[in-house]
Amino acid sequence: MGHGKRAQKCRTIDRKTAKLSFYGCLSSRIFFNALPSPRSFFKDRNYSCFINHLVIVMKKAVVLLSGGLDSAVTLYMVKSQGYEVHALSFDYGQRHSRELKAAKSLAQEAGVVSHQVVSLRLDQWGGSSLTDSTMQVEDGNVNREDIPVTYVPARNMVFLSVAASFAEAVKAQDIFIGVSQVDYSGYVDCREEFIEAMENAVNKGTVMGAEQNIPIRIHAPFIHKTKSEEIQMGKELGVPFELTWSCYRGGTKPCGTCDSCLLRAKAFEDAGVVDKALV
Ligand SMILES: [Zn+2]
Repeated sequence: MGHGKRAQKCRTIDRKTAKLSFYGCLSSRIFFNALPSPRSFFKDRNYSCFINHLVIVMKKAVVLLSGGLDSAVTLYMVKSQGYEVHALSFDYGQRHSRELKAAKSLAQEAGVVSHQVVSLRLDQWGGSSLTDSTMQVEDGNVNREDIPVTYVPARNMVFLSVAASFAEAVKAQDIFIGVSQVDYSGYVDCREEFIEAMENAVNKGTVMGAEQNIPIRIHAPFIHKTKSEEIQMGKELGVPFELTWSCYRGGTKPCGTCDSCLLRAKAFEDAGVVDKALV
């Protein structure tokens, strides 16, 4: 069906159901997240198929869950906001599966509605010490200015693209990613300008965003927060920090010397919180 015919059909549906939809809108705003206000319902000339709004049954979120600290606090924050949470993790050929184990434990502990683990073998071409076993994970340096070899080429662009597909499939309007551009390793795909550009692309490349006027939002709630602020928030939310895993090197205990371990240790120290993962 062409765009014009579809819009015409939708207008017909809307006329027939306008009264019903309006009252449905009023009552269901109690339960539904993505509905327009009654005013915008009538003002919005692009409400091509109002019925589309009704398929969003409650406010749903897709949360990127790596198993690390940032994603764990994000998960608990989103859950505390009353979302139906769909967690998304990636088996991307990373050096170790320890963080995936952490992600599974966190998803279970938080009681998410679903947890998808998507296999995306970025180690097929490597290009990072996290996805190429012939490269070494170097020791961390918190004063470094260049981007370390632990950077995985376009990782968050790939992950957010998959998250957009998942979100559209389950009719979730909100995607959450726990990146920060404050105390981080300089990764370009953790910066605000990238997140904004990605959100823009998602809304141009999904039916929800481009045709149904149900924009998908990408939230990066910690983008301007320090890790220690995250930890404080996580403590208040009851995040089980002992289930999280940050070390790039894997193993049974964090190495304590990689970039990720150093950033984590400093953040817990600054927050005045004991890192239970090390106890
Ligand atoms: Zn480490």
